[in-house]
Amino acid sequence: MDDVAVCVAMIGLNERGNLVLTACNDPFFQLTGGAGAVSQAFPIPFGALTTDSASRGLGEKLLACFASDRAQEPAQTYDFRDGKRWWRLSLKLIGHTSADVSVREILVTGFDMAAKLNLTQQPDVDASRYRALVDLAYDAIVAMDDQHNITLFNRAAENLFGYSSAEVLGRPIVTLLPERFRANHPRKVQQFADAYDPGARQATPPRMDESNSVYGRHRDGSVIPVEIAVSKIDLNGGIEFMAVVRDITDRARLMDLLKKQATTDALTGLPNRREFVECIEKMLVTGDDLSVFILDIDFFKKINDQHGHDAGDEVLRVLAKVGASMTDRPSLFARWGGEEFVAALPGADADLAHMIADDLRQRYERQDFEHVWGLKPIPFTVSIGVVTREAGEVNVDALMKRADRALYRAKKSGRNRVEVG
Ligand code: GH3
Ligand code: MG
Ligand code: MG
Repeated sequence: MDDVAVCVAMIGLNERGNLVLTACNDPFFQLTGGAGAVSQAFPIPFGALTTDSASRGLGEKLLACFASDRAQEPAQTYDFRDGKRWWRLSLKLIGHTSADVSVREILVTGFDMAAKLNLTQQPDVDASRYRALVDLAYDAIVAMDDQHNITLFNRAAENLFGYSSAEVLGRPIVTLLPERFRANHPRKVQQFADAYDPGARQATPPRMDESNSVYGRHRDGSVIPVEIAVSKIDLNGGIEFMAVVRDITDRARLMDLLKKQATTDALTGLPNRREFVECIEKMLVTGDDLSVFILDIDFFKKINDQHGHDAGDEVLRVLAKVGASMTDRPSLFARWGGEEFVAALPGADADLAHMIADDLRQRYERQDFEHVWGLKPIPFTVSIGVVTREAGEVNVDALMKRADRALYRAKKSGRNRVEVG
């Protein structure tokens, strides 16, 4: 309140009954229209100072106060107010005797209400607005102090994490993280704090989730994929971190689905050709043994012709299921396209690969597998071309072409057989 201006004035009536300032301080002088500090000698005619309506209103009030003709107890208050100013004035009629002459004057005191309200109420208004905004936000907002304890937890955060604000305030922020991320978290925060430059305003807020794999932990233990924007705030010398946390479960699910669709064959659920090539490329980077084979169903056109396309599809699904579990060794079975399938057998030499491929061929031929056929069992056989990577061979296309040539030989030499290329 020290900053709030106070005005004081003594106002009397001259012989013509007009108001005169017999004493006043600068704020009152300025309030009633005087410019700068009081420089004139008292008495100063009140009417000479200003003609604005607020001052006229005050003049009328003062005259009415004189007209009441007796010292008033308690003092009257009067709000001197216009668009810009708001002073709360107290008017007190006092009578005293000066040089044997009885004088009646009004003592005016007052303070600047607008300034007072600004000083006392503005922070409350700001805080209320801030609180309302924080609680209205769709995103979870969580703040923590430099000890990494939670200092703010809005309503969306309560919904996202399943805790009430009262339960988590003051508790460590890692409460909201899956266990496996807890140990590393302080280091991550430190890295962020060191790199944080509040002067550099970026188009998007700084994020802690560049890896796109940040997770929160719900009270019930479930893991929630989230996106986080963080800012570091200086609070009276202390540090706070404020995070806006968005639940991206739906987006993460969609991404997973799209990724799966991009790498999976819809009919059989096997990895598709692109995925297979990518895996083989990775395998070829290492110098390890690797065998692959291509499998093509014999006379598949006839199956389609005799049993219908749906039955043909059923054969493809049956074949895929059996192929996917052909061996206990590490292997990858994929759909190459149409009625052709491919397999990768890392660590298998030509003999082993031939053995695995021929086992599979025989199982198909004997229908040696558990499967409930949609309509009735359909006999089918397959031809397979096997190749083993040569030392230093890194080209997927060349490897698969060799396998294709071996397959062609298997077809040429009577089908339902395995050829090694
Ligand atoms: P071959 O022993 O020489 O391989 O004889 P084939 O009849 O299998 O000959 P080919 O490989 O040329 O025929 C492939 C047939 O597979 C042609 C096509 O209609 C059928 N086919 C390809 N994709 C699908 C599919 O998704 N579903 C069904 N039902 N048939 C398919
Ligand atoms: Mg074919
Ligand atoms: Mg075929």
